Amino acid sequence: MTKNNLPRRTFISNMAIAGAGMVLGLPHIANAADNGKPAILGGPKAHPGGFSGWPLFDKTEEKAVTDVLKSGTWGRLGGNVVSSFEKEYAKMLGVKHSLGVSSGTSALYTILGAKDIGPGDEVIIPVYTFIATYNVVVLNYALPVFVDTDIESFQIDASKVEAAITPQTRLIMPVHIGGSPANLDKLMAIAQKTGIPLIEDACQAHLAEWKGKKVGGFGLAGAFSFQASKNLNCAEGGAITTNDGDFAQTCYTFHNQGQGGHTTSYGTGTGTRATNLRLTEFQGNLLLAQMTRLQAQAKRRAENAAYLTSLLKDIKGIYPAKLYEGTTLSAFHLYMFRYDRNHFDGLSRATFLKALEAEGVPCSEGYGMMNRNEYVTGLAKNKHYLKIYGEKTMRQWLERSQCPQNDKLCGEQAIWFFQTMLLGSRTDMDQIAAAIRKIQKNAKALAKL
Ligand SMILES: *Cc1c(COP(=O)(O)O)cnc(C)c1O
Repeated sequence: MTKNNLPRRTFISNMAIAGAGMVLGLPHIANAADNGKPAILGGPKAHPGGFSGWPLFDKTEEKAVTDVLKSGTWGRLGGNVVSSFEKEYAKMLGVKHSLGVSSGTSALYTILGAKDIGPGDEVIIPVYTFIATYNVVVLNYALPVFVDTDIESFQIDASKVEAAITPQTRLIMPVHIGGSPANLDKLMAIAQKTGIPLIEDACQAHLAEWKGKKVGGFGLAGAFSFQASKNLNCAEGGAITTNDGDFAQTCYTFHNQGQGGHTTSYGTGTGTRATNLRLTEFQGNLLLAQMTRLQAQAKRRAENAAYLTSLLKDIKGIYPAKLYEGTTLSAFHLYMFRYDRNHFDGLSRATFLKALEAEGVPCSEGYGMMNRNEYVTGLAKNKHYLKIYGEKTMRQWLERSQCPQNDKLCGEQAIWFFQTMLLGSRTDMDQIAAAIRKIQKNAKALAKL
């Protein structure tokens, strides 16, 4: 985003404009002729620019931070702000317990630590996810087992999870990627049938709902991220959600050096491993302030996403990510869709993305193929993994990691828009669709670029 290049005053006044537009739904001045010359060839932009900045804040956040500053209690030990946040967050999500931690990765790491996951254990994860989902498994010297993607939804293919289960499987850890729920009915049925706990990586899915119930409360526990790009942001932070009181206590203990809550000296926990992953009072109060905006922002994103989908589904070769039938609300951290170059005169995805950027529409091809990345395949040569699992198992692990559907999705088709774009007006959505239609009309010329 451009905000770092702007003088501070300009940045703040731009935000104020974005904020006003959000409340009043002020339309931008329409200039979205989709029959003109593509911007990349020198024509006018389909979108004038100026999507919402991120984060959005005002005096509420300023007061939240200075209140903690002046209180002199900056950490959660001895304070009460993080614990207030935890109560509010649990209430908002309709779960019994929430624990604030230092990041989304810390939330997952704490859950795995509280389950005492270790060498020889397998954890099932989707291949289409942010690398943190994989990293927390490997940090515990457990084996991450990839499941291929349902390319229509971009989510873990729930019909392939059972085949990935072995006697070593200790957790099933789906991700609600893009903020849209994975197929929770199917995943919960597998967890119940096998007795293997389900952990929701809900790091992108604040307030998303499955059949009217918020995600993060379906399995044993859920993990949320409050990292700067996420829909709820305190720079770096995370939370665990659970309905299991004992598990909540074990998580607290793990994230607090093996020490219990306010009453006990040493918690039960795993008893033998723990660390410090505490959230600070500054972050807790910032989150409470940002939460006053969260529901309205979620509603705005969902409305704009639904409208955008109604426009894009009429464009041949553009396929918005399917939401499963149980989805009553997506958090739309990402707006994901597939692109088929065959309907664009063979125009490559890379050139399509460049042309779209030139129209004033930010976009990305999204995640690469995680299972083929050197950082990941290198695990098969890691000396500790070779010691724990042996060469044969690690070779077989590489073979088990094939995900042909995901290869197709990442390699050719996937495109993302970002959550901030969905905070705009209907006119913004009209202009995004107009940009794509303009590129399609001129695809033959653009394919020669
Ligand atoms: C952001 C994210 C994480 C990690 O969260 P951090 O707060 O950045 O540590 C984990 N999983 C997914 C799917 C994420 O998007």
